[in-house]
Order: sequence, then structure tokens, then C-alpha cells
Amino acid sequence: MHCPFCGSGDTRVVDSRPAEQGRAIRRRRECESCSDRFTTYERTESLLMVSKRSGRTEPFRTDKLQRGLENALADRPVGTGTLAELVDTIEAELRAIGTVVSSDEIGRQVLSRLREIDEVAYLRFASVYKEFQGAQDFEREMAALEDSAVTGGAQDPVA
Ligand SMILES: [Zn+2]
Repeated sequence: MHCPFCGSGDTRVVDSRPAEQGRAIRRRRECESCSDRFTTYERTESLLMVSKRSGRTEPFRTDKLQRGLENALADRPVGTGTLAELVDTIEAELRAIGTVVSSDEIGRQVLSRLREIDEVAYLRFASVYKEFQGAQDFEREMAALEDSAVTGGAQDPVA
């Protein structure tokens, strides 16, 4: 927590008490550099809700998103740092949509991100998410991917 007056990261809590009927904790902090004091509030992040295809609604679970991405990225040359970043980015994008997102929306966000990172992971996730009926769908997806790869290569000044 950086001091809002001088920007120093060296601050300490001088007082801590419940606030907002117990839904928050209010802390007084003092900066070790400039000695100014400021207040912070700690609250639980509001729940993001997911509307399922079945019509049910349930709280968004970060660990579920992470497991889905882990499965798609298994054995792919993508570091755990990238995975963590990916989870954070997707969750932030979903929260920007609103307090309720559809499971389709989540699938689309994941697919568009994976497509930028790793084609194999993208296809793995797509095959689970889109519940491919048969080989035709899969081939169409592969063809679309190859088209975009060709376009991407042409724009790459290194290629
Ligand atoms: Zn300061």
C-alpha cells in the first residue's frame, strides 16, 4: 500500500477497526517516510454471477476458470505466470461486463484469449466448450485457424 502523499511503499497500520456494520475493515496508516496518515478500507469483492445454459445462476469461481485453462494448456510451452495473468485478465474482463455474465460469455472470452496464446490450447478448449458434434466442426475450426495464421504471417515483418 503506497502513501498517497509521497508515494513511499513504507507504511504501517496504526489503527484497525470494523466499519460498515462489519462488512469492511477501516485502517489508519502512517507513512514511514513523510509521517502523513491516510485511511484504507478492506472489503470482500462483490460476487460475479454466472447464468448457465440450464437457466440456473451460480457465483463465478476463479478456481474453475483456472482448472479449465490448466487443462487446455497442459504440456503446452506456456509458463505458470502466463496462466495466472490469463486468469486475472479474463476475470477482469468479465467483471467489466457487469455483475452477471453468461457461461457462453466466459467461453468466448477464454477462446479469444487462448487463440492469441496457443493454437493447440485454443482447439482443446474449443472442443470441450463448443461440444463439437463431429469431425466437421473441428475441421472447420482448423481451417479458420489456418486462414488467420496465414494472414498473421504475412503481416509479420520477421517472416
Ligand atoms: Zn508518505
